[in-house]
Amino acid sequence: MDQVKDTSVQDLTTQNTLALKSCAHDYHEFTDRDALSTYLYTLSSELPLLVLGGGSNLILPEVVTTPVIKLGFDQLEFAEEGDAVIVRAGAAIEWDKLVAEAVARGYAGIENLSLIPGSVGAAPVQNIGAYGVELVDVLLSIEAYDRKEKQYVTLTPDQCDFAYRDSIFKQKVGRYIITEVVLELSTQLDLKLHYGELKALLNDPAKAGARNNELSLQAVRDHVIKVRRAKLPDPDTIPNVGSFFKNPIVPESVYKSLKEQYPKLVAYPQENKEFKLAAGWLIDQAGWKGRVMGNAAVHDRQALVLVNKGKATQQDILALASAIQDDIQRIYGIALEIEPVSPL
Ligand SMILES: Cc1cc2nc3c(=O)[nH]c(=O)nc-3n(C[C@H](O)[C@H](O)[C@H](O)COP(=O)(O)OP(=O)(O)OC[C@H]3O[C@@H](n4cnc5c(N)ncnc54)[C@H](O)[C@@H]3O)c2cc1C
Repeated sequence: MDQVKDTSVQDLTTQNTLALKSCAHDYHEFTDRDALSTYLYTLSSELPLLVLGGGSNLILPEVVTTPVIKLGFDQLEFAEEGDAVIVRAGAAIEWDKLVAEAVARGYAGIENLSLIPGSVGAAPVQNIGAYGVELVDVLLSIEAYDRKEKQYVTLTPDQCDFAYRDSIFKQKVGRYIITEVVLELSTQLDLKLHYGELKALLNDPAKAGARNNELSLQAVRDHVIKVRRAKLPDPDTIPNVGSFFKNPIVPESVYKSLKEQYPKLVAYPQENKEFKLAAGWLIDQAGWKGRVMGNAAVHDRQALVLVNKGKATQQDILALASAIQDDIQRIYGIALEIEPVSPL
């Protein structure tokens, strides 16, 4: 079947991890490239459109006024070429299922990105990252429908403007519909354990859960999952979209002056003498952890996470976010940028 579903009204409340009550009035599902391109060809490229993945980085309105499309492409292929492994993964595959499969086959490169919710198709959108690894580190190319050129295109990483939680797909929302992602993994055990909590694996593998002191891909994945579960609320019990704000990157001069005023400031040196400030630390120090505003709240253990108390709307979440942004600007002179996307 080409176009599986084409309905006028679709409830999206269970399709977004903030559990915001939401529906689409123009909803389409596709499992076939030709059906997708035929549908997109007829639409003006200027018309806003929402591609819905796992809904784990979205702040949905009560009614999504644009067309909503959901992809069913779930092809998955691994091909070894010497030490390299070329992975072709359809947009609809759950990202963490891909990580689990790669780790089980002994292919290295994405184990640090374990347990990030959402779909493969959305992974390039904000260049997902965790524990010192970003998607761009293993990305070979992307297959997408370009609504401006009205054809399928293959994009290489240097065409995608990747940066920290950013890409051309986030800047030009709705232009590209990503159908497949091509990664290059490795058969060689090249572990990246320099970042934060992963250092524990290097220092004391047994304590960090590695069996027989053996550092394997599975041991890294298990450790990442353990740390993430301890740190981040599970959206199934406490609706959220993970980190709500990006960690701001500031010049050295700004970092130094803040560090003088706040000696405990948490920051990480970047290239070009810039510093990435821990947004969660700024928000926590400003007294926001656990604060409730109407139906939205700041999580009581993780200040970077905003949660739906049950009946929150897009406006409730954005009002809380805006109050936090104002406070952080007033106290530290720092502009916090919201990470998840708010569709029309
Ligand atoms: C508990 C929790 C922890 C998280 N931890 C991390 C983390 O460690 N690192 C990190 O980077 N992110 C993290 N996130 C954010 C989120 O998991 C990622 O941004 C993820 O890639 C979103 O995938 P999704 O399928 O749910 O996308 P959605 O939320 O459905 O969509 C997000 C955006 O991508 C667009 N999009 C989706 N699919 C496509 C497609 N096929 N083509 C074009 N555009 C598309 C959407 O239109 C939208 O603009 C976390 C979220 C949660 C809830």
